[in-house]
Amino acid sequence: MSTIADNIALVAERIRSACQAAQRAPDSVRLLAVSKTKPAAALREAYAAGLRDFGENYLQEALGKQQELTDLPLSWHFIGPIQSNKTRAIAEHFDWVHSVDRLKIAQRLSEQRPADLAPLNICIQVNVSGEASKSGCTPDELPALARAIDALPNLRLRGLMAIPEPTEDPAAQHAAFAAVQNLNNHLRGSLGLSLDTLSMGMSHDLEAAIAQGATWVRIGTALFGARDYSQS
Ligand SMILES: *Cc1c(COP(=O)(O)O)cnc(C)c1O
Repeated sequence: MSTIADNIALVAERIRSACQAAQRAPDSVRLLAVSKTKPAAALREAYAAGLRDFGENYLQEALGKQQELTDLPLSWHFIGPIQSNKTRAIAEHFDWVHSVDRLKIAQRLSEQRPADLAPLNICIQVNVSGEASKSGCTPDELPALARAIDALPNLRLRGLMAIPEPTEDPAAQHAAFAAVQNLNNHLRGSLGLSLDTLSMGMSHDLEAAIAQGATWVRIGTALFGARDYSQS
């Protein structure tokens, strides 16, 4: 059986060769380890093999693991759907939020971000797959939402996040990620926002995402193995 350290080495090699194919610097893409459903011991193992950034989808589960791992200097990223009643704990316990898709949530995160912490890093989740996805703002809503979030005091708008409809067709993968990159370029160009982040690419499509400018790839299965939801 392969260990988490073996899997990290394989993923790092995939990232390296995708960067090379895209003529990008290897350190221009960062690896976010998506640890939902995995025990604290698995994160500890990933930490020992060099990973520092962990993505979680479920607040209570994440807070439990944070309690178990206070001895490690980790960065925590919230990447799941956000309900209003969860914003305070997210603002208090995370460094990044990748899944903001409406202004009300962003306003609450800004108001509730503790004054002694750095601004919370934010990506706006955008839906480039139409009806197929229920999360994410529409491309039409994006410019006004980005402008409004950029003006909030305790947040730092970093860029966009997307989860395109899953497909094994590389051409379709590239097209979806290219659409996200175009939206990001529009926000930077026409709106003059200083964005440096594209959070896109998962275990099955990280190569296409890197070819289209991903700066965070969010990888779960390829690092930790298949998820088992039967316990929860
Ligand atoms: C679960 C999840 C991932 C990781 O997906 P894998 O296919 O296991 O790599 C990435 N991003 C988000 C938002 C997720 O919920």
